[in-house]
Amino acid sequence: EQGHPRLLPSPARFLVLLNPRGGTGKAFSLFETHVMPMLTEANAHFTLLVTERPNQARELVRERDLSAWDAIVVMSGDGLMFEVINGLMERPDWATTIKKPLSILPGGSGNALAASINHYSGHQQVTGTKLLTNCAFILCKGHPVPLDIVSLTTSSQQRIFSFLSLAWGFISDVDIESEKYRFMGYARFSVGTFVRLTALRTYRGRLSYLPAISSSESSSADRTETRVLEDSLVVPLDQPVPSHWHTVEDQFVLVLALYQSHLGAEHFTAPMVKGPGEGNIHLFYANSRISRTSLIKLFIAMEKGTHLDQEIAHLIHVPVVAFRIEPSESTGIMTVDGEVIECSPIQGQIHRGLGHVLSL
Ligand code: ADP
Ligand code: MG
Repeated sequence: EQGHPRLLPSPARFLVLLNPRGGTGKAFSLFETHVMPMLTEANAHFTLLVTERPNQARELVRERDLSAWDAIVVMSGDGLMFEVINGLMERPDWATTIKKPLSILPGGSGNALAASINHYSGHQQVTGTKLLTNCAFILCKGHPVPLDIVSLTTSSQQRIFSFLSLAWGFISDVDIESEKYRFMGYARFSVGTFVRLTALRTYRGRLSYLPAISSSESSSADRTETRVLEDSLVVPLDQPVPSHWHTVEDQFVLVLALYQSHLGAEHFTAPMVKGPGEGNIHLFYANSRISRTSLIKLFIAMEKGTHLDQEIAHLIHVPVVAFRIEPSESTGIMTVDGEVIECSPIQGQIHRGLGHVLSL
């Protein structure tokens, strides 16, 4: 269906967006010591732009002429890539510009996309500068492949585009509450997980979804003429979901929609995902009957991706193409790609291979 775009031209021209505050704040010196020599070796040209504030990268990719660059490289965590994808989708020419190859270099504390691309490219699961040099190598190879993008709509009619995840409950609580341990780098997620386990919270709400097998989403190529990206699988949020959808009403401990293999550098959460453009949303959820022991087991096994072989009671996994989450209260934390959003009804559907990312 969607043919793979060709290799980048040589010499390739990269626009590098770097967040100096990502992770423990060492992105700039890591770029100089580990990435620049490889780019020089690969005879690549680059323009380095160091961000000064949140949303600067989003505004830049929304407003600038990007034709001088063959790929947009993000050196930060997943948060800066989230800005770039949403900025691109806000352009009047989004349908063509979202095809511009993107590339990720891990420079944050949440480096899920980098870990996923590293995995798809056949490398061992690694962290730190090992992950960085693997990703820099993948960048130098310059091989774009399709990237799935999930289109989300909130109850206030806001449109959000996501390449990684939507989380509600345990996982988003850990992600956001552990911000205060940012100085620890990636360890903040382990510390945060244990803190949250000791005071387990549950959230009442309704989860609806369209299983992956029951639908075939049309290729993104069909829609390039439309002015806005149309979500053909969902009905407006104020209407009940179509009757062929499934609905669970419960007291949830966690709800996670994940579309890449890794939720973090050491969270191999969806081992069934073999590439960035498979067209599935992997929905995971657990209700309040899940025990603390099971949750501990889950998070330990997740590092190696063996959690689904262990039959953890009350943990459900289902591949879907669209979903809706309706929290009963607005007090919880919801995140998209690790960024906080308003905790209110939200729904979304996958757009298979809408974007492109460099991978092997
Ligand atoms: P991390 O994984 O360490 O959280 P992210 O890439 O997710 O790294 O970045 C965290 C946040 O920092 C994002 O929301 C992004 O918008 C914001 N940001 C980008 N540039 C800057 C900057 N110069 N100063 C502060 N925050 C920034
Ligand atoms: Mg982040």
